[in-house]
Amino acid sequence: MNLYQEALGIKDEIVENRKHFHRNPELGLSLPQTAAYVEEKLREMGYEPQRVGESGVVATVGKAGGKCFLIRADMDALPVEEKADVDFKSTNGCMHACGHDCHTANLLGAARLLKAHENELEGMVKLMFQPAEETMEGAKMMVEAGVLENPHVDAAMGIHVFTSLPMPIGTVLMPGSKSKFAAVDWFTIRITGKGCHGAQPNNGVDPLNVMSHIHIALQALNARELDPTDNLVLTIGQMHGGSTSNVLPQEAMMSGTIRTMKNETRATVKARMEAIVSTIAAAFRAEAHVEWGAGGPVLFHDKELYKDVKRYLTAVEGLPVLDFDDVGGDFSSMGSEDFAYVANEVPSVFLAVAAGDPEHGYCYPQHHPMARFHEDALPCGAAAYAQVAMQWLSEHK
Ligand SMILES: [Zn+2]
Ligand SMILES: [Zn+2]
Repeated sequence: MNLYQEALGIKDEIVENRKHFHRNPELGLSLPQTAAYVEEKLREMGYEPQRVGESGVVATVGKAGGKCFLIRADMDALPVEEKADVDFKSTNGCMHACGHDCHTANLLGAARLLKAHENELEGMVKLMFQPAEETMEGAKMMVEAGVLENPHVDAAMGIHVFTSLPMPIGTVLMPGSKSKFAAVDWFTIRITGKGCHGAQPNNGVDPLNVMSHIHIALQALNARELDPTDNLVLTIGQMHGGSTSNVLPQEAMMSGTIRTMKNETRATVKARMEAIVSTIAAAFRAEAHVEWGAGGPVLFHDKELYKDVKRYLTAVEGLPVLDFDDVGGDFSSMGSEDFAYVANEVPSVFLAVAAGDPEHGYCYPQHHPMARFHEDALPCGAAAYAQVAMQWLSEHK
């Protein structure tokens, strides 16, 4: 049995599904067409899919009583207008610019492969199709709804395609056993002053002045408070206040994101931001507070599972695999991934698949309106999902 060869054998089906998702991207937690399509395909294969939340889909294959391995795909797109030159362009003004269309199609491909081998599965594989990765809401929603129970999940794996990588298309990248994706938090800071005539600032409290001081002060967290060997990105992406030149507004707002590489650092930084914001505002007679939006923890790999996954994948004849541990590399990123909600609960590994290199014209990265992902990478992802799930179960009866 070579699941990579079998994945190549169903490539047309995977590609067709992927093109369907690409033409019809949907956003956030509400993916009515996508979830319905996934369920329909699963039913055609003999599955009994369950809906989790509005648009999460779960299905299982194998036999009860043994261990359970979860494989996960995210299904949501981005509010980006597609400019890429492909013949299956998005039809609705949104775009699968992160490649989640590939993930969804690949997990359906893995579902097909696993169903064909159902009698040989020595436990249960749980397929997790989640919405809202980009907004860091989908995995959290499904974990809270119990996706890791009934049956209880013992280990898990996610995969992300990456384009604009100088690497042969289809290479399965083990990102380095110590690599991480950052924890992320989105925040909004609201400042309340006292509006007045621009000629008489002494009669008001200027929230724009306060906002300026907060902006500068927050940068000192990185420069003066954090261990220099630790990591923090603190980005303010928008600042708004006022509507004309000769009026001081009553209120102002700024919003941004922080990225951290340790869950402890994340907690410390959040507490210090709240203190800096409120005390600076008080110093200038205003009021300000931080509102925390969506976020997620650090994504890291389970060391034992990482070794197992490497052994399983490198043994698959024909499947190109590169482990960053072997070349002294590390695929860590201050980008984030909400699969971390799963990985913080059960032993997990998160893989990458190279889906386009600059040398062959794949010059634009994820989230760019011109980003493209090569379909030759699809069978590699589908095979990796199925191979790891199947072999892990056979070794963990
Ligand atoms: Zn993305
Ligand atoms: Zn993504």
